[in-house]
Amino acid sequence: MGLDFKNIAEISVYQEGVVRIQPVLSFAEAGLHPVMLDNIKLAGYRVPTPIQAYTMPAVHQGYDLVACAQTGSGKTAAFLIPILSKLMGKAKKLAAPRPNPATFIPGVSQAVRAEPLLLIVCPTRELATQIFDETRRFCYRTMLRPCCIYGGSPIPEQLNQLAKGCDVLIATPGRLCDFIDRPHILSLNRLRYMVIDEADEMVGADWDQELKKIMSGGDQNTSQIKYLMFSATFNKAARDLANHHLAMDHCKIRVGRAG
Ligand code: ADP
Ligand code: MG
Repeated sequence: MGLDFKNIAEISVYQEGVVRIQPVLSFAEAGLHPVMLDNIKLAGYRVPTPIQAYTMPAVHQGYDLVACAQTGSGKTAAFLIPILSKLMGKAKKLAAPRPNPATFIPGVSQAVRAEPLLLIVCPTRELATQIFDETRRFCYRTMLRPCCIYGGSPIPEQLNQLAKGCDVLIATPGRLCDFIDRPHILSLNRLRYMVIDEADEMVGADWDQELKKIMSGGDQNTSQIKYLMFSATFNKAARDLANHHLAMDHCKIRVGRAG
């Protein structure tokens, strides 16, 4: 890690609009929340990787984005750091009323109402768990509470987690749609950011329709939501999804070797 920019064969930033994204060379100059800076230090990250250097200012400036960088290049932190930092600044204003755990009866869904500010969708349980672990590190000493839901695990346990409050939700698409379809469990009304990780694996296949449904927000207003897609490669289906559902002026960031 701590990739040297000089050793990267190609960094290209494509953007339809006129604003250019200047990469930040350090976390200190990225305009991050002080608690986030502390948590980055605790994680042992000293310098941003190239994909992080570009995504931090892009998120800061409020762009939707498509980010392409090879496996192991630090894509998870590339979306978590700038988004969670933004949410930390707004945490007091946006904080959801926490349900009183004493009034919650396990398995009784009427008591649950999770309204995440950030939704991260990824293809597998393993990946969801990894993202959850990293999210917990960056949410340390903040009001932001992360939750993780995925298939193949008992639903009541996950309902219990959601019932304690959920500002950041990491989910695989099957379980996510299951929870969205049940009444009074999960609402995307407060959503500010949606990240699709490993976008390549998420589209085209079984989850295409579900993803599109979630991204178009059903009957809710999606104008307050920023959409970010990350992947090591982008196939046609992923590019189509970006072109149809991201803002017209979304950034396309590609870091790595040509080809
Ligand atoms: P990707 O999603 O691009 O495959 P990950 O987000 O899983 O990559 O990151 C790969 C590894 O790099 C992880 O162990 C992560 O903790 C580490 N990492 C990420 N960013 C940095 C950084 N700025 N400095 C040092 N290590 C980092
Ligand atoms: Mg990844």
